[in-house]
Amino acid sequence: MDIKYFAFLQHLLRFDRQVYLDHNATTPVSPAVRRKMNQVLTSRYGNPSSFYGLGRKSAQMLEQARQAVANAIHADPAEVIFTGCASESNNAVLQSAAAQCLLHKKKIVSTPIEHPSILNTLAYLETQGVRVEYCQVDGQGRVVLADLAQRVDEDTFLVCCMLANNETGVIQDLPAVTKIAHARGARLLADCVQALGKIPIDLHAWEVDYASFSAHKLYGPKGVGALYVRQGAPFTPLLHGGHQESGLRAGTESLHNIVGFGAACQEVDQLLEEAGKLRALKRELVERLRRASPDCVVNSPQDEAECLPNTLSITFPGVENSGLMGMLDFRGVAVSAGSACSTGEDTPSHVLKAIGLSDQAARQTIRISLGRRTTAGDIRYAAQVAQEYITGRASFVNMLAPAQLNENILFDPNTFILDVRPPVDRKKSKGLPNAHEVNPLHVEDYLKQLPRDKQILVYCPGGGLSIMIAYYLQAKGFRRVTNLRGGLDAWKKRRGDLFEKYAGQNVSVLKPDAGD
Ligand code: PLP
Repeated sequence: MDIKYFAFLQHLLRFDRQVYLDHNATTPVSPAVRRKMNQVLTSRYGNPSSFYGLGRKSAQMLEQARQAVANAIHADPAEVIFTGCASESNNAVLQSAAAQCLLHKKKIVSTPIEHPSILNTLAYLETQGVRVEYCQVDGQGRVVLADLAQRVDEDTFLVCCMLANNETGVIQDLPAVTKIAHARGARLLADCVQALGKIPIDLHAWEVDYASFSAHKLYGPKGVGALYVRQGAPFTPLLHGGHQESGLRAGTESLHNIVGFGAACQEVDQLLEEAGKLRALKRELVERLRRASPDCVVNSPQDEAECLPNTLSITFPGVENSGLMGMLDFRGVAVSAGSACSTGEDTPSHVLKAIGLSDQAARQTIRISLGRRTTAGDIRYAAQVAQEYITGRASFVNMLAPAQLNENILFDPNTFILDVRPPVDRKKSKGLPNAHEVNPLHVEDYLKQLPRDKQILVYCPGGGLSIMIAYYLQAKGFRRVTNLRGGLDAWKKRRGDLFEKYAGQNVSVLKPDAGD
């Protein structure tokens, strides 16, 4: 959502408190990282490939950053390639492995709980002739090693297994997975994005062949990743061009980001020391949420050694996550349903389904991920808001699933459709038929025209802005307010037929209330 809408809504709703509990999506940049990056942006603008002093200085900073990343993951600097993001790192390994090995071996074995940057690339490679098999995970998301061992055979050229999962926090026994891969002559790619800065990583000791990392998950900047390629492991670049990164990744290096990544890695030891504090806060959070909802189910492994210290996946039976998240958001608490990459989609999380949750249970699950600035007060506040919602003490708006929005509702005379899309989005796409458009920055100027005896169906592109406005309307005494979950985008995906047939029909533009 555009920041100006947030600022406006916060002003309108007078909720100043912000509690950020979505650190697995991304983290705030640490002050030390920002200082280093500023220094580069201010005075180290030389191209690291240039031979003169300014360029050499930049090249030196680049290598210092590489050393810092290598130290944090127990690797040699020569094994670290900087990339644009971890998605690129994952793509590079998978495409390189497929290109090199397709002639000899045809199979990749992975897990069903990988990040979309792995799963969607694997789906693509399948169209190119690669065979992909997924091993079983148990109810906690742990790879079933016996099943993996059965699937990895002489025809397997790569095993692909994340170190820690972004949704549940489950940690895999990577050394055991590597042993299985190597015993059959296969290589191992480990997505270590969520693990760095949360648990110790020792790539050399574990004999991992390839690993991916992303700076923005550990208080570094967005837009820079790293790829570890073990000495001697085959690798064909994804990007061809200049000789940067020893010819393994073309493109002028994003020096400020890379230096920021290096600075973030210098804080890894300190982050690991803080893990105990995060665990204690997570324990307290679970206790409080259990009191709020005794039948809640914790999906993250209960054994602390098997779970990231900051991550909690929890299901509240009977409580739809979109409504709960909307209320938390309304009160300034940021959590998520699954990975940030799937936000806005109406499909239940593949990770939760793989560990045995039903579609319904997955839609009743939220992910809470704590960070170094999380306080006990934040935990109490978030648990309190959740409790008020779950126990029905906080009134909440209805949520309409995109698939449920059919002709009966679209043309129901007792439903008033309120389009709160920002003007830029209205230009991009037609909207729901029979809708009434208002300026989302001035909703308070239209209240007299909104019917109090009808259901008001509020929608926006993604469902986030509209739920805040829905809560605002409810606070203003409108009793029957419904939010379209996932917004117009989700509805278009679900009911493309209805969108084609009716979008944009009979839309009216409301004028602000007279006299205001
Ligand atoms: N792998 C995992 C486990 C992740 O959580 C993420 C980010 O959410 C990625 C890969 C992709 O990272 P990036 O945003 O740098 O592409």
